[in-house]
Amino acid sequence: MKPAAFAYHRPGTVPEALDVLAEVGHDGKVLAGGQSLVPLLNMRLAAPAHLVDVNWLAELDTVAVGDRAVRVGAVARHARVEHDRAATGAVPLLGQAIADIAHETVRNRGTVVGSLVHADPAAELPAVLVLLGGTMELASAGGSRRVAAADFFLGPLESALRPGELATAAVFPRPPAGSGSAWTEVARRHGDYALCGVGVLVVLDQGLRVGSARAACISVGPVPVQVDLTDALGGQPHDAADWAAAGRLAAAAVDPEDDIHATAAYRRHLAGVLTARAARAAAAHAAELLDRGAA
Ligand SMILES: Cc1cc2nc3c(=O)[nH]c(=O)nc-3n(C[C@H](O)[C@H](O)[C@H](O)COP(=O)(O)OP(=O)(O)OC[C@H]3O[C@@H](n4cnc5c(N)ncnc54)[C@H](O)[C@@H]3O)c2cc1C
Repeated sequence: MKPAAFAYHRPGTVPEALDVLAEVGHDGKVLAGGQSLVPLLNMRLAAPAHLVDVNWLAELDTVAVGDRAVRVGAVARHARVEHDRAATGAVPLLGQAIADIAHETVRNRGTVVGSLVHADPAAELPAVLVLLGGTMELASAGGSRRVAAADFFLGPLESALRPGELATAAVFPRPPAGSGSAWTEVARRHGDYALCGVGVLVVLDQGLRVGSARAACISVGPVPVQVDLTDALGGQPHDAADWAAAGRLAAAAVDPEDDIHATAAYRRHLAGVLTARAARAAAAHAAELLDRGAA
């Protein structure tokens, strides 16, 4: 099928883009990598009267690695971030999770910020932003605002972005000293959306014991489900903790539904198994970084 007719806008600067978005309001949609929006248009599940193409906004094609965070501009593609050693060195979970997004062809075009705004419950990056306590930067003709990850994802394909707003960047804070991370997921075929995916961040103390641990699970609820694993793992050695107990905490915390791809029981089972696996890998990662003096 072909999309319904729309007016195409190609602003050359951010202020121009914000003016167009203010003018078209509810009738407009931002077009970034098009990897999610174009299929929706072709299937006529979305029929905006105006598309505002932001791909020409060179000022948003940025990946800035700072002392505290990695700031990814709205036009930076998944692949650019995935292969940016400074960015993935500062926030390893970014590289670990992006590697599991779709296929290279999709990652070459799709944007990190587009994926966050799209707010698919099966997408990896919303969980990464939530787990790291990151922030979205949003702009409109009326001004700009920042929204914490915890307040940004409202439901399936629903974010806190308002009509007329452009998400200009996502800020992924560097994890604290002594941290390690891991991403694990299960999909029916390589490159498919995950039936369940889990990211874990573990912080080790000086004695290489678990100080704190957190997970974020995808595809098991309308938004990423955060689980504090510290009760199960805290104070235990990084290489001999009760990983299964961490998995049980996650399995108890998620509330998946049956759908055509998997039963709720299977997804819950995956949340437990993948959390145990990711927690063990994240603790090993933290120990490795400490050993190299890199954490
Ligand atoms: C075959 C296939 C498999 C995929 N598998 C996965 C997967 O496993 N995991 C995963 O996470 N994703 C997956 N995706 C989606 C992919 O990651 C997309 O890149 C991403 O979801 C959307 O990014 P985009 O830049 O393409 O955004 P678009 O498709 O251009 O836009 C998506 C939505 O976000 C809005 N939007 C985008 N950017 C902005 C902005 N800066 N400001 C305001 N609104 C904005 C658009 O208006 C639209 O509503 C897959 C896609 C395909 C085609």
